[in-house]
Amino acid sequence: MGRKTKTLAKTERQTKLKKVSSAEPSHQIIQFGKIWPYAPAPESTKIVNIQPRYELFINGKFVPPRSGQYFDVINPANEQKLCEVAEAGEADVDAAVRAARQAYEKIWRKMPGKERAKYIFRIARILQERSREFAVLETINNGKPIRETRDFDVPMSAAHFFYYAGWADKLNYLIPGREVAPLGVAGQVIPWNFPLLMAAWKIAPALAAGNTVVLKPAETTPLTALLLAEVIQQAELPPGVVNIVTGAGATGALLVSHPDVDKVAFTGSTAVGKKILRAIAGTGKKATMELGGKAANIVFEDAPLDQAVEGIVNGIYFNQGHVCCAGSRLLVQESVAEIVLRKLMRRMETLIVGDPLDKNTDIGAINSRMQLKKIQELTQVGLQEGAQIYQKRCELPSKGFWYPPTFFTNVAQSSRIVREEIFGPVLTIQTFRTPEEAIEKANNIAYGLSAGVWTEKGSKILKMASQLQAGVVWANTYNKFDPSSPFGGYKESGFGREGGRQGLLDYVKIL
Ligand code: NAP
Ligand code: MG
Repeated sequence: MGRKTKTLAKTERQTKLKKVSSAEPSHQIIQFGKIWPYAPAPESTKIVNIQPRYELFINGKFVPPRSGQYFDVINPANEQKLCEVAEAGEADVDAAVRAARQAYEKIWRKMPGKERAKYIFRIARILQERSREFAVLETINNGKPIRETRDFDVPMSAAHFFYYAGWADKLNYLIPGREVAPLGVAGQVIPWNFPLLMAAWKIAPALAAGNTVVLKPAETTPLTALLLAEVIQQAELPPGVVNIVTGAGATGALLVSHPDVDKVAFTGSTAVGKKILRAIAGTGKKATMELGGKAANIVFEDAPLDQAVEGIVNGIYFNQGHVCCAGSRLLVQESVAEIVLRKLMRRMETLIVGDPLDKNTDIGAINSRMQLKKIQELTQVGLQEGAQIYQKRCELPSKGFWYPPTFFTNVAQSSRIVREEIFGPVLTIQTFRTPEEAIEKANNIAYGLSAGVWTEKGSKILKMASQLQAGVVWANTYNKFDPSSPFGGYKESGFGREGGRQGLLDYVKIL
């Protein structure tokens, strides 16, 4: 590594991560060597109407929980309470599953595919019509920048409903020569990093295939799922076809182990995924698991380096690194390591960390105090392991949960920060000499969700893609999604696919 990196890293280490702030404003552009701040450009919040209290969505209606319990939901960017949300207990989960069963037997499974499609198209169109409202609400509840929710989360959610609506009347073509049937009631549990998009990924294929749904959003981010419940009412979906039960892990556990749930679809941590698999073992329930990741982003010496640096930044820093497929391990060919690092540090200085509602913001808030603690703990582990740290110099807001873009050099393949998912804006950097060494380092890990390859040689891309153990391999780009393209993992990153034709196969049985 270059001398400059070492000096910076040493200074940061001496200050033990505390002194990440400086006098410079976080909003800045570099012009003729001078740094000028951008003017604030906050998105108005007038379009959203957050109610003081939210109930459960069961059988087409918002109903108070039989448990009588509510929990607070906060804005992670300023720690202000937004509202309280019902906590579903055993009787509530049971009522939701019963509503889903009734809707399945009496209406949804019998409805011709072309009729089901009309409802799903309607949901997609209303989502588009109300896209600004969804984007602002998602940003307030999740802490991710409005640019991400406006340009990615919400349009991609609508796209998934559009895509699967198109499949609903074509199920006979799913497997040539074979007929398929729905599984029944799907119990779906999702995390906080893409609250609306994960709901769309789960609900759209389930409905297209003729299943009914009970969905549990994450405790910290239930608000866009509850707004989606309103959209579902607006689309006049028959009552009980989609039910939403809010709560924490205990509610999720009740849902997946309910005896009348036929299919469990889970996205979240590998630890909870394993717990769920143990809970449903021997019940005959079908399951799909989208779990953690620790993706290698591999940069060869012949890559377009400026684009690669942009891809590295997109892969780990945008979205605060709250992405299961985040490019959290940079593997860079030794001959270009120094120049890539210099370019990366320069780019990091121009990243804007701050108010998620500001349209200029690149990096918003960490979703919860718990997640921030986990990032801080693993960063300390990295320092104890002897890694060298570099963090962006920026002023972080005094309220809320924040973490500056960070990278570590001088890490070993055996370092915990290289092997464990940090789920924050923290990158580890290793070097390699040959493609074989890159593949060895990329694959020598418990996870296998995604990877990135940067090179101008098509043959190298194909060779790497065929040998990388990852569900998705991006070439000369990163974090690109399309509803027609399947997504899922190898090894401890889970099994089953979401998106595309493969995503539907996980919601049907073959007759
Ligand atoms: P998590 O703890 O696995 O939670 C995911 C979902 O499962 C949440 O809705 C959670 O409820 C629920 N849950 C917790 N315990 C459960 C149980 N015993 N039975 C059924 N459901 C249960 O993950 P997280 O807190 O969202 O994030 C932590 C880690 O998950 C991250 O650091 C990352 O490793 C991983 N993650 C992976 C992805 C991915 O797409 N692969 C996405 C996000 C997170 P509550 O959280 O509401 O209590
Ligand atoms: Mg949790």
